[in-house]
Amino acid sequence: MTADMLVAGNWKMNGTRASVDALTSALTARDIHACEVMVAPPALFVPQVTAAVRTALGVGVQNVSEFDAGAYTGEMSCAMALEFGCTYALVGHSERRALFGETDVQVAAKFAACKQAGLTPVLCVGEKLAEREAGETDAVVARQVQAVLDACGADAFADSVVAYEPVWAIGTGKTATPEQAQAVHAGLRALVRGVNPDAAVALRILYGGSVNAVNAAELFAGEDIDGALVGGAALDAEAFETICVAADAEMAR
Ligand code: PEP
Repeated sequence: MTADMLVAGNWKMNGTRASVDALTSALTARDIHACEVMVAPPALFVPQVTAAVRTALGVGVQNVSEFDAGAYTGEMSCAMALEFGCTYALVGHSERRALFGETDVQVAAKFAACKQAGLTPVLCVGEKLAEREAGETDAVVARQVQAVLDACGADAFADSVVAYEPVWAIGTGKTATPEQAQAVHAGLRALVRGVNPDAAVALRILYGGSVNAVNAAELFAGEDIDGALVGGAALDAEAFETICVAADAEMAR
């Protein structure tokens, strides 16, 4: 843990007005955490969530357009997300890359748009199972990070967040071991250190991939693991709360 920890919940395309009410009420009824907590609901629910959580939690979007405005049907700009109270945007989630064809270059353009607008990007990187088995993990995440450095320069990761999310661990119940996660996180930080030592020290690198109430604490013990990006367990207030408490405990160590 090198900085204030961040626990982020990615609700993906889940929820109804009623379930969002129930989840936000449960989350805001809890004690204030030492760690920073952020949730990324489906965009339509952002106003409902920001009204309910006020300043207790940060709110983010799950995706943004790389464009500012215009004829981009179905897209949403960084300025729109900001206007509705979001401070974070997930960029390059593996589901966006795999299901919607987002390329490294497009993800980097979205990252750049966030930085330009003043929205903190959470760059998601990670390898597929075949890539891990072929020993390509470091090369894959380095390529994904390099695309952002190419687009945004050496200051790209100042005031930004990276989430290491092995694709094989997302929504599968399979988690990277703490050692596997720590090794990739250390490599990511070293990569950023090579271009911007100050940004590397402050950079929050989250782990994502089947984080739950049981495995969070041991993952957080990794020196370069600064929080979590949580999918499935973020829809369960009890489990999400336990993950936040584990981050609080790690910060107090
Ligand atoms: C995610 O969607 O970013 C994620 C990590 O999902 P899950 O926690 O369900 O694996």
